[in-house]
Amino acid sequence: MPDDVRPLQQSAPLIDPFARAITYLRVSVTDRCDFRCVYCMAEDMTFLPKSEVLSIEELERLCRAFVRLGVRKLRLTGGEPLVRRGVMTLIERLGALLDRDGLGRGALDELTLTTNGSQLAKHSDALVRAGVRRVNVSLDTLDPAKFTTITRWGKLEKVLDGLAAAKAAGLAIKINTVALKGVNEDEIHRLAEWAGAEGFDLTFIEVMPLGEIGADVGTANRVDQFFPLSMVRARLKERWTLDESDHATGGPARYWTVRETGQRLGFITPLTHNFCESCNRVRLTCTGTLYMCLGQEDAADLRGPLRASGDDGLLDDAIREAITRKPKGHDFVIDRRRSAPAVSRHMSVTGG
Ligand code: SAM
Ligand code: SF4
Repeated sequence: MPDDVRPLQQSAPLIDPFARAITYLRVSVTDRCDFRCVYCMAEDMTFLPKSEVLSIEELERLCRAFVRLGVRKLRLTGGEPLVRRGVMTLIERLGALLDRDGLGRGALDELTLTTNGSQLAKHSDALVRAGVRRVNVSLDTLDPAKFTTITRWGKLEKVLDGLAAAKAAGLAIKINTVALKGVNEDEIHRLAEWAGAEGFDLTFIEVMPLGEIGADVGTANRVDQFFPLSMVRARLKERWTLDESDHATGGPARYWTVRETGQRLGFITPLTHNFCESCNRVRLTCTGTLYMCLGQEDAADLRGPLRASGDDGLLDDAIREAITRKPKGHDFVIDRRRSAPAVSRHMSVTGG
């Protein structure tokens, strides 16, 4: 543990107007990425100027404030979290807040990240040393050519090397796969088989209408990309028996178990299943904006109070005020008559 990490004084937990305790913070540590996935970004994305982005020290102070207010799980995301300069320092410092031995000596139950896997070969050992135990890795195809079509700039081999390193380092791995019509719909079985053989959990995700994504041929329209998970499930059922599982992570995924192999499969269906009732999470961007709901525009600025004073009281008040505005739920819709996204910001702003 870094020796200059101050102990935390816990204060009253965050409870929203619908009596939901906020115990999970997702932090987008950068809006930048080494890939340009077709459903996520336009190829010619304009990124934020550095002056607007919180420093590693500021990100740490904000995360500590949330942990002081009862957050027990932190997930770093992006953009690509592992391309942010200094991110490993942040991870080590946040790792010092973990309750590593379960004896209540730390305030945090879990520190994890969602990554595209491209930097895992470099960082897996250090992640484990910092206390990370699980990572979510996004991978939509096992075909190298398709991988480059989807990510525009990515190389499948690098991600597979990263996965091997993560596995060797002892990290538990969950693969997140966005189901894409006409792109990976024919790979559903192959992906499930591969994940099962590797010992990875696998979760399928539906495309969500967030942000403009550019106008390359065949990728410009989310109606064209959308492949409902009911169809993914139907495909899997052609070969396997799927039993609904009561496994719950507090997240939006619903889980099924493959009876023949015992493998767990998750399905995140934000458009067809409303998962808001049990929402325990809020999302912080790399500029210090807090989104209380993934599917709504309302947000709170925390960079102002963070930079205004070294007094944590001001920051805590701003966080508490934001939580009073957490809405009951979202109203995403992929509408054939509307080409504009339901929410104008990109997924890389909040990191999913
Ligand atoms: N770069 C990291 C990665 O790809 O895992 C973290 C950030 S990325 C924005 C987080 C997740 O959001 C990825 O699993 C990605 O597939 C998913 N995602 C991005 N845009 C999406 C969209 N429009 N609909 C559904 N999922 C999306
Ligand atoms: Fe980058 Fe992740 Fe978005 Fe792909 S999904 S462009 S890897 S942030």
